[in-house]
Amino acid sequence: METPTTLQEAIVYFSDPDRAFQCALNLRWPNGLVSCPRCGSERHAFIKSRRIWECYGCKKQFSLKVGTIFEDSPLGLDKWMCAYWLLTNSKNGISSCELARSIGITQKSAWHMLHRIRKTLHEDSAVLLSGEVEADETFIGGKARNMHVSKKARRITGAGTVDKTAVMGILERGGTVRTTVVADRKKKTLQAEVKKHVEAGAALYTDALLSYELVEIAGAYVFSDELFEGWLKDCAVFVGVSWLPWRLFVAS
Ligand SMILES: [Zn+2]
Repeated sequence: METPTTLQEAIVYFSDPDRAFQCALNLRWPNGLVSCPRCGSERHAFIKSRRIWECYGCKKQFSLKVGTIFEDSPLGLDKWMCAYWLLTNSKNGISSCELARSIGITQKSAWHMLHRIRKTLHEDSAVLLSGEVEADETFIGGKARNMHVSKKARRITGAGTVDKTAVMGILERGGTVRTTVVADRKKKTLQAEVKKHVEAGAALYTDALLSYELVEIAGAYVFSDELFEGWLKDCAVFVGVSWLPWRLFVAS
């Protein structure tokens, strides 16, 4: 089935529980590497009938919802994926009444859903992110359509970025994610974004390319995942930025 282009198509598309699960899985672990949200282990067994994993590291089970905005929601991933799709594909935004009507939930549930999704997409709070913070950026739209692996998208430079939108995601480990559309991916712009959201003294984790751009930020310690690869894998509890909804943006 093709990626939905209308609301009706989206409702049908995500009503298949396997497909909704697969979409959510791709959002959360775009590179396909599922890691335990508790201990970070990538060694686990998937229990297909219950759609959960059993971790060999901490011996506990985890679902896709653990550590995400869906975590304590009684609503299924089909509803969440549909809401995500609607929110990221409607030019003029969507009201909780519209969402409630469209996917068959109460207006109150719809309000909470929208609130949570918007929080991950446009969080713009005065509180600075601190502690261990991860930063990532990608391009959406245009030819980036097929480039769901953010690293691939990041390699597009110069003229190739003309019809694309640059998005930067900053996450506080164990805390919130902030996603902003940035005018370009010049050093100055990216640094300003980090300064706006991250407290001085925070440990900033990012990839080699972005760390090069961010390295001059006063007061932030920048760690590159390439420089610290082995060590970072061990200490990273949950590499959260990689689950940002790049794919749904791209699907528009
Ligand atoms: Zn574990």
